[in-house]
Amino acid sequence: MSTGRRALVTGGSGGIGAAICRRLGAAGHHGCGHAHRGGQAAEAVLQDVLAAGGSGQVVRFDVTDAQAARDALEALQAEGAVQILVNNAGIHDDAVFPGMSAGQWHRVIDVSLNGFYNVTQPLMLPMIRTRWGRIINITSVSALAGNRGQVNYAAAKGALHAATKSLSLEVASRGITVNAVAPGIIATAMSEAAFDAATIAALVPMKRAGTAEEVAALVAFLASADAAYISGQVIPPTGGRRSRAPFPHRRRAPRWRGGGGPLRRGGR
Ligand code: NDP
Repeated sequence: MSTGRRALVTGGSGGIGAAICRRLGAAGHHGCGHAHRGGQAAEAVLQDVLAAGGSGQVVRFDVTDAQAARDALEALQAEGAVQILVNNAGIHDDAVFPGMSAGQWHRVIDVSLNGFYNVTQPLMLPMIRTRWGRIINITSVSALAGNRGQVNYAAAKGALHAATKSLSLEVASRGITVNAVAPGIIATAMSEAAFDAATIAALVPMKRAGTAEEVAALVAFLASADAAYISGQVIPPTGGRRSRAPFPHRRRAPRWRGGGGPLRRGGR
């Protein structure tokens, strides 16, 4: 059944974004799947949504191009306010910081952080006028735990955490919630190149990568009426991996001491 709400998912052509589009479509929202270069992939996702009885459309623009974003969003909003926004478009371009080029720094910040501004700001006033909204920013556990080689990526995503908290305060009284979802390792093209099975087993207590569908299920909940009282939060679906990397200097996990009594971390 249609909710009558319009949802925009940036990066809907990618692994996690596609799963979010399908899930929001199944929840009855009119899904606007967004793509930059991957127009065909976004069209394929739209076909899945339509085949499942949902409705939607595809919108294409570069989130780093403020004018292109503004023009596309103006056209989109001519048909009604976007009430659910998932800022999911993102890239990583890893290098240890001493070797990181200015281009690597700016590209990553530009897509995640400036992209957030370019897409979110033009949607705010129409959303506020409806007195109902959901903004969900897809960030990363890297912004919580830090990650070698990802100073640019962690900085961009961490800035989104701060933006999430501040914006949530500004719009709370207007029925709009703003949250961040900070995944750990999720099985998509983006992560496949970076992590083999042994690394995933070493890093993730559940010994597996998460799925895009598991992230999408959380996003769909945050976008629902049931999540009306959750705002300004950063929620990390990480398979049990802590948001602060434990004992990063140790090669082996520390033993617990203390026999049958309360657990106490050895040496810390
Ligand atoms: P993908 O590489 O599969 O998808 C990235 C998406 O971002 C694509 O749809 C791409 O669009 C879009 N995008 C990139 N640059 C631009 C741009 N300049 N303008 C508009 N859109 C752009 O990645 P994932 O699905 O794996 O990741 C989705 C989000 O989840 C990202 O923000 C990522 O940082 C985050 N994340 C992913 C994790 C993982 O393990 N996979 C872990 C933690 C966070 P197009 O292809 O059409 O150009």
